Amino acid sequence: MASPKIIAADQHYHCTDCGKCCRDWHVEVTAEEATELRALRWDDGDHPPAKPVFRFQGKTFVSHRPDGTCAYFDTAAGNCRIHAKHGADAKPLGCRLYPLQFSRLASGQHALSARADCPAVVAETGPLLSASRKDAEKLLHSMPELPVPSKEDASTLTPDTVHVVLAALSAGILDADVPLRQKAIALNLAASRLECLGAIFLNDKPIRDEVLETFFTRVLTDVPELRLRKQNIVEKWRYMSLLTTYLRRDEALIGGGLPARIRNANALRKLTLGKGNLRELDKDYPDGIIGHLQLLGEPAAAPPAESAARIVRLLKVRLQTQQFYGSANFGLEFFEGLRSVALTVPLIVGAARWRALCELRKTEINDADIQFGISAIDHSFGRMAVLRTPLFRILARQAWQPEAYARHISAIIQDQTYDQF
Ligand code: SF4
Repeated sequence: MASPKIIAADQHYHCTDCGKCCRDWHVEVTAEEATELRALRWDDGDHPPAKPVFRFQGKTFVSHRPDGTCAYFDTAAGNCRIHAKHGADAKPLGCRLYPLQFSRLASGQHALSARADCPAVVAETGPLLSASRKDAEKLLHSMPELPVPSKEDASTLTPDTVHVVLAALSAGILDADVPLRQKAIALNLAASRLECLGAIFLNDKPIRDEVLETFFTRVLTDVPELRLRKQNIVEKWRYMSLLTTYLRRDEALIGGGLPARIRNANALRKLTLGKGNLRELDKDYPDGIIGHLQLLGEPAAAPPAESAARIVRLLKVRLQTQQFYGSANFGLEFFEGLRSVALTVPLIVGAARWRALCELRKTEINDADIQFGISAIDHSFGRMAVLRTPLFRILARQAWQPEAYARHISAIIQDQTYDQF
């Protein structure tokens, strides 16, 4: 039986039966799974839904109630009716899988991480993810074959180079004893410089080893050189567009028809251009009307150390499992994928800041804010279809240019060390 070769270190997971995944997410099913759901046998008093699945934009989903809860969720008992009556294996793969996510490395081996939009994962509760290896093996066995990244996905880096570069990047920058903002800018800058070095150079082991020895120290040293003017109005709009795109919850529109789409478009327009309320995008989002003048006015104090460490651990999971390029991230090639990982940092902190402002904390971000930011941004990373559109890609590419990136993140968080330069 196939077994995940790499399991994200430092990730913890134990389902707390909070029911969020049954209340908020929509589960897409295959035609076979839809047939199996229809064929399940129920007794009087079991209350299965009259219509197990529904179609939306050419896809099939497990039915939901008007409030968004899965039609099979037993609200009184707080559990899944399929699981309770027919066992875990009778549930669609998407339900059994969540929050685990697999990817394949160029070597053909499998990697495993856990989605940080699960409250138990973001709160880092329970045993290490590696304790789920047996369950993961079983799930992997029941999944369709995952694609191996192509040479083009990996920017023609060899599997060995990919492994070595990511390990060095993680140790040289993410483990460096510098503040979060400097780390994030350095990660983005390193991706840009590594791309300039190119595959021919990096695939040459002796040269690569020699260069990497001092490469990351130099990148960290060069961060203050990206000296800053403030974001201009176009950059503020770009940042707000990226942030609100990540915070969209298109699944909340499924089955809502045209009125829901109009409401959603209107909410996004207000959030991007003026003063908007995130609660209009998702019922679990913070409630408060915030505009970009507040969000991008004065930077917030750096998040608490444990919260910054939470963000860094998430970045390390992405690098370790390579779940940021190829099929894991809408076909982005290696270096762009790496920058898209860096881009999540100002977005996580921006979402966290939004929550803080809704609670009338002007410049202070706490750990609950950061957990919200991680959960909200990770929910979309590599998953939300709008992130693969040409317009979004243009915005993202502009935002991760090294100087622009430094301006975006510096508009959102302070860095005592760096701001003195
Ligand atoms: S959201 Fe996570 S913790 Fe909550 S029920 Fe689903 S898997 Fe369990």
